[in-house]
Amino acid sequence: MSIKAPKGTKDILPEEIENWHFIQKTAEDVFLKSNFKEIRTPIIEETDLFERGVGDTTDIVNKEMYTFTKSNRSLTLRPENTAGVVRAYLEHNMYRESPPVKLWYFGPMFRYERPQAGRQRQFHQIGVEMFGVQDASADAECILLASEFLKGLGLNDLTVEINSLGCDKCRGEYKEQLKKAIAPFLDKLCDDCKSRYEKNPLRILDCKNETCTKLFEEHDLKNSLSGVKLCDECAIHYKNLKEYLNALNINYVENTFLVRGLDYYTKTVFEIKSNSLGSQNAVCGGGRYDGLLETLGGPKTPAVGWAMGVERLNSLISVKKVDLIDFFIVSNNPTETLKLAVKLREHGFKVEFDYNFRKFAKQLEKASKTAKYAIILGEDEIKGGYYTVKNLAVSSQEKLSFDEVLNIKK
Ligand SMILES: [Zn+2]
Ligand SMILES: [Zn+2]
Repeated sequence: MSIKAPKGTKDILPEEIENWHFIQKTAEDVFLKSNFKEIRTPIIEETDLFERGVGDTTDIVNKEMYTFTKSNRSLTLRPENTAGVVRAYLEHNMYRESPPVKLWYFGPMFRYERPQAGRQRQFHQIGVEMFGVQDASADAECILLASEFLKGLGLNDLTVEINSLGCDKCRGEYKEQLKKAIAPFLDKLCDDCKSRYEKNPLRILDCKNETCTKLFEEHDLKNSLSGVKLCDECAIHYKNLKEYLNALNINYVENTFLVRGLDYYTKTVFEIKSNSLGSQNAVCGGGRYDGLLETLGGPKTPAVGWAMGVERLNSLISVKKVDLIDFFIVSNNPTETLKLAVKLREHGFKVEFDYNFRKFAKQLEKASKTAKYAIILGEDEIKGGYYTVKNLAVSSQEKLSFDEVLNIKK
């Protein structure tokens, strides 16, 4: 039996690569304008990093990590990249630079989940992290950056949902309120929710289990909860964020039910939904994580960031066609063909030819499918020192000198 790509993984084929390049290029352009710098961290990290950094009550850590042992060390394929970027930030003492430190990344992540349409076990994320700013201006900057990036991809119809989870101080009361509201039907919830009830009740709101979500609706959980009652500091932070978003003309809705799937968020959390193609799912999720750097052994450092799934973005943007090459050389003379190809490539043209030097008709057929122009280099042309150039879009042809060929618009 032939070998196939592992379940939940996918080849990105040459005909799809233009979209990937487009996403990468747009990210580079947009992020550079705000002075975010790219960082590339390893795909494998010590397992402990994710247990401490993502949180041991999350599905990611409990069920979805690819973990293996080498030389008595437990290693894990990264399921997300915030923990890795924070680790690099601390390892390289970037906190000694004057803040903020603004980083972005693009790369594959790995989660052992049931593969579905749009969800793979190896998937790609693009994201930003901003370290060292306590003020809500950093939260606003990150949301602005995400929305500029999505607009750059042609996704204009965006909805930003925001919420504040407060700090440990003000969240405590909300957790009690939530537990009280859930207690009457706790025994009917899924096993995950039962264990979250003591360890991290907020995560219950994030449960995707149908039985659970139905129970939340039946008990009108959404309306029976007021959201986190914020302490003064958190309330001011949240108020400032909304002011900044208003000033930036970013449309947002407040959603007190928004908690996000990770343990480390404090204060601001947000999601961005794109209404393109009638889809209502979030394309971006993020928030503030002021406690994470300390958890990972670093100095207390405020931080905020977001991530987007690249496969999801890909499914929303229109398909980019692979460009035609500039010239296809049609010839029976390998030496002259190779020499001409090199000369044209030196001038920046994309050039291809038939390595089997088949009949001209065959070569022209191939040329018409792949190139803008065919350069015919037959015996007459070689003797006469000119080139017959055929414009394949309109089927016209003319005899040109080499300099005239160079003047053809790419
Ligand atoms: Zn607070
Ligand atoms: Zn549940």
